[in-house]
Amino acid sequence: MGPKKSVLLVTVDCLRADHVGFMGYARPTTPFLDSLAAESFVVPQAIVAGAPTYYSFPAILASRMPLALGRDVIGLAPGETTLATVLRESGYATGAFSAGNPYISPRFGYDQGFEVFRDFLDFETQSTQKTVSPEPLFSDSVRGKLNRSIRSFAGALGLSRLYNELYFQYCMKIAPAVVSVDALRRYPAADILVDQAQSWLASVGQRPFFLWLHLMDPHSPYYPPSEAFRELAGRDIEPGRARYLNAYWDRFYLTPSGLSGKRDEVIQLYDAGIRWVDRQIGRLVDSLRQTHRWDDCVLALTADHGEEFLEHGGRYHLPVRLSEEIVHVPLLIRVPGEQGVKVPAFPMSHLHLAPTLLEIMGVPSPSAFQGRSLWTNLQRGIAWADPAIMECAYGCTNPFRAENRSAPRLLGVRDTRFKLVMRLEPGATEEVYDLEADPGETRPSTDGPALETRKRLLQAAREHMEKTVSARDPVMRLQARLRDLRCEILG
Ligand SMILES: [Zn+2]
Repeated sequence: MGPKKSVLLVTVDCLRADHVGFMGYARPTTPFLDSLAAESFVVPQAIVAGAPTYYSFPAILASRMPLALGRDVIGLAPGETTLATVLRESGYATGAFSAGNPYISPRFGYDQGFEVFRDFLDFETQSTQKTVSPEPLFSDSVRGKLNRSIRSFAGALGLSRLYNELYFQYCMKIAPAVVSVDALRRYPAADILVDQAQSWLASVGQRPFFLWLHLMDPHSPYYPPSEAFRELAGRDIEPGRARYLNAYWDRFYLTPSGLSGKRDEVIQLYDAGIRWVDRQIGRLVDSLRQTHRWDDCVLALTADHGEEFLEHGGRYHLPVRLSEEIVHVPLLIRVPGEQGVKVPAFPMSHLHLAPTLLEIMGVPSPSAFQGRSLWTNLQRGIAWADPAIMECAYGCTNPFRAENRSAPRLLGVRDTRFKLVMRLEPGATEEVYDLEADPGETRPSTDGPALETRKRLLQAAREHMEKTVSARDPVMRLQARLRDLRCEILG
């Protein structure tokens, strides 16, 4: 057996499948990755196991469904076996660089198995005023009091909407001028992470490595580096306009029709973030080539979930629906020495990613992994039958809160053509979508083979729930709760 292969796992927050070139997007967001796609395995239907971040990563790194261990385990469980722990035990140098996502931190177990783990949670932009509040001022200043009076007066006259609009425009007018988008950015851009990853790679010598990069460039607020915007839009970004658009897009009280006029411009900012990611991955790969590490390096690129731009009325990536813009993500796997073949259009759950990567690297999969390797299927273009399951606590935007975590389970079953979505609570009905006849998921399917399909998908949901219930480990849940409470666990 030759030298062990290394692996580079790149996860991009909020990157939806239909916004990358190699998945058919018309705008040139990913020229570098597109050039790699020709020699890679591109999975046409990669599906997340849950959304958002905290319900997605357990499957990517630990091949485990997000709610399998119970609601109190957010992120990875204490001591859980992951891709990183397995590879570290196999002699790999392991390093992770995550661009400031608060849910990817040691608190949620993500440092497990990594010799070097940087979460960039201390990242600060140079700006003292990152955002401009479009909400009414509640300070005790004279202006604050006056503002409150005008607001309630406007409310009494039924003019709340007008008040909100005027107040928003006023906030924008008095906001201090910004000269650069760099000062507005909330998360470190991909170039900062790539720089650090390169230094780390230089320190590991010739050991095989597992490098995980989690990039936040397409995550809101959308402030792409000006270079990427220029490359994509053919003109310079206006920092003031970018701030205005982000603040406008964030106005939660606006209806989709009130927001839709800004949609295209917001998407342009989002796309430029993707373009920056693409360019930085290209830079990293170049340096791997120069140091003769690329010929032994497996690259897997995917996303933890997608992003909504009003397709179903929503923005961002709230766990309230499992529509394709949220659950369908890109998945590109480049394996040195392999010519990528056309991958069958079957849904591939993230659950199978870690076992697949381990098989590619010739490392046995641990029994704790719930997924299975699809390497032979990918290599030979053979289809597989299992549908992808997705789950999250409905509407849970703050997993720190127990009542949020214990919201009804939102469960989805996605096969090649149909998708079942249901909220597990009394009285709720299931919805089945025919993705072929209705790719926009505008109406649940009621005619045709709906009954048979419904039965098949419900059966898969039942099997999943049975496995989930038997997998629960009360000790692990308690340990996770203790970790939450920042208690030290002895022994
Ligand atoms: Zn995320």
